[in-house]
Amino acid sequence: MDANPAPSPERSDFLRVIVADDLRSGLHESVVTRFPPEPNGYLHIGHAKSICLNFGIAEECEGRCHLRFDDTNPIKEEQEYIDSIEADVRWLGFDWGEHLYFASDYFDQLYEWAVHLINTGKAYVDDLSADEIREHRGTLTEPGQVSPWRDRSAEESLDLLARMRAGEFPNGSRVLRARIDMASPNINLRDPVLYRIVHAEHPRTGDAWCIYPTYDFAHGQSDAIEGITHSICTLEFQDHRPLYDWFIENLPVPARPRQYEFARLNLTHTVLSKRVLLTLVNEGHVRGWDDPRMPTLSGLRRRGFPAEGIRDFAAMIGVARADSVVEVEMLHHAVRDVLNRTALRRFAVLNPLKVVIDNYPEDQVEDIEVVNNPEDLSAGTRMVPFTRELWIERDDFMEDPPKKFFRLAPGREVRLRSAYFVTCNEVIKDADGTVVELRCTYDPATRGGAAPDGRRPKSTLHWLSTSHAVPAEVRLYDHLFAAPYPGSGEGDLFDDLNADSETVLPNCFVESSLDEPAVGQTIQFERLGYFCADLESVPGAPVFNRTLTLRDAWAKLQSQGRHNTA
Ligand code: ATP
Ligand code: MG
Repeated sequence: MDANPAPSPERSDFLRVIVADDLRSGLHESVVTRFPPEPNGYLHIGHAKSICLNFGIAEECEGRCHLRFDDTNPIKEEQEYIDSIEADVRWLGFDWGEHLYFASDYFDQLYEWAVHLINTGKAYVDDLSADEIREHRGTLTEPGQVSPWRDRSAEESLDLLARMRAGEFPNGSRVLRARIDMASPNINLRDPVLYRIVHAEHPRTGDAWCIYPTYDFAHGQSDAIEGITHSICTLEFQDHRPLYDWFIENLPVPARPRQYEFARLNLTHTVLSKRVLLTLVNEGHVRGWDDPRMPTLSGLRRRGFPAEGIRDFAAMIGVARADSVVEVEMLHHAVRDVLNRTALRRFAVLNPLKVVIDNYPEDQVEDIEVVNNPEDLSAGTRMVPFTRELWIERDDFMEDPPKKFFRLAPGREVRLRSAYFVTCNEVIKDADGTVVELRCTYDPATRGGAAPDGRRPKSTLHWLSTSHAVPAEVRLYDHLFAAPYPGSGEGDLFDDLNADSETVLPNCFVESSLDEPAVGQTIQFERLGYFCADLESVPGAPVFNRTLTLRDAWAKLQSQGRHNTA
């Protein structure tokens, strides 16, 4: 074990500097962080930034990171979300060990502390309605007005709180509020609500409670109970910090966590808000939370993004206090980097055109040896059957090619990858004039893809034997939102959805080795892009999602000096 654990120096950011200082000065002997999701939706790539940060710092310092569900709002929270969040954090590569917690574990303690605040004159039960409380709150420029119930006795508040808890009152009829300062310039300190009446079944506590603490009342105290040393959260909680500190100062908590804020992740062409993502699901704009176009971790996984690529992306963007928008192409760049190294190459034809090789024996089948990954020769080779009738990509042929088109055309010779050179001699069309078949000849001396006389065709195509290829459905994906900054224009956010974000190609073919592909494994279809077998695949009828095209748009943006927009 390292005698002096500290965050990795190559990853230094302002938070890692603070943590290292606190360890060096002896303020803390070890570091405890937490990732605190509310189980009201699936995790998205923004959460991944927070997970990589909290678990990452703990790992680097040999500390620990808790997974804590902030489950204080039973109306929006569900067991399905709890399960998906646990699965997603694990998939991303992190482990909380035995440190799985729920704010609801602390409901008894929080209630005791609410009673403590009443007893010390720092909280009261208010009979105003939610609307009235809002009207009394004031604005940024005007102080709030005190509630007529603010001066009610501690005794009366204690009695009312107990009866709220016992279920005597309907939803919204009363709340417990802190007695702080209705004139505070910080609206969060204008007697915030601590408990509200919600007659709803909780995924964990069932019907044990009908009053629930607010997020603000639960969050900091949960950190204190767990001995969190560094409570890391996003910038929108900066204005809540004085309130969290007020609770910590006015309650007999066992520890004093300190909160630090960092800028949340924003991505172009992407919306990172669980509320919006839930609407996309509920209104049927996508196939579900795990739709391959969704920025959720389950969507990215289904799309074929490896966890390593997402972790690399989190490291690339770093952590800062200034808000910014990251180009989504940067995420794609990180993912391509991993896939280029690791993905096996396979042949697939998305838009098939038949080629018949007239001088090739009718019933002959040759096994052609093809390299699995030119970036990693240890991945070996495989055999792909070659026959007289083949599929090639329709885009790889033009009857009347322009100057820069070097692929197949009448009278022209091309290389079929690892197999033979073929020359197109005749174009067969249907009654509408659509090309339906090419008649070609091959040169038997070019087996393996090289000619003894050294001639080199200008282009190499992928191909499949028509009698061996497996029919497949392929789904092409593009940005879910066409606009780079969704919702920033005139219209509604949903007007910015990309009508062509999904294109389904039902009549594709893939190598027979992909008959029953491993769901979740991302492969490269040669010359076409990265693809991942979808969970809707069935034996003999695989479905593939396009993870990404091969072209690296981020590298291009970078070469133009445009990789990060403020
Ligand atoms: P959303 O805004 O999508 O509803 P949230 O902040 O309400 O997200 P929580 O479940 O409360 O979701 O988030 C858990 C943790 O993840 C919090 O600490 C939050 O600050 C962090 N987080 C949420 N969104 C982002 C983001 N875009 N970038 C970085 N961290 C984020
Ligand atoms: Mg939140």
